[in-house]
Amino acid sequence: MSFSRHQKIKKTRVDHICFGCMRKIPIGSAAHYHVGVFEGDFCADYFCNSCWNFLEVYPDYFEDGFYFGDIIEAKNEMERNKEIKNYIQGEEQWLYC
Ligand SMILES: [Zn+2]
Repeated sequence: MSFSRHQKIKKTRVDHICFGCMRKIPIGSAAHYHVGVFEGDFCADYFCNSCWNFLEVYPDYFEDGFYFGDIIEAKNEMERNKEIKNYIQGEEQWLYC
């Protein structure tokens, strides 16, 4: 059995650490709180807006679940892929002009 519940917090009352990017969510910031059971393990974690948006935009990216800091890793990987793609496209333009 698994369940998942999400709550948007307008202003945090204490500092939290974002589960996605490991950065501090300072007191008074907007955040997202998620509780759920994944593969039998209970989890209750805070996420910053940026990481939560990433999860909503790319749900397939984490089909098999994710761990502490995985979202920032995924963002960095996408950024690198974009740079490589831009570089390759740049090379192609150079080759064909
Ligand atoms: Zn985050």
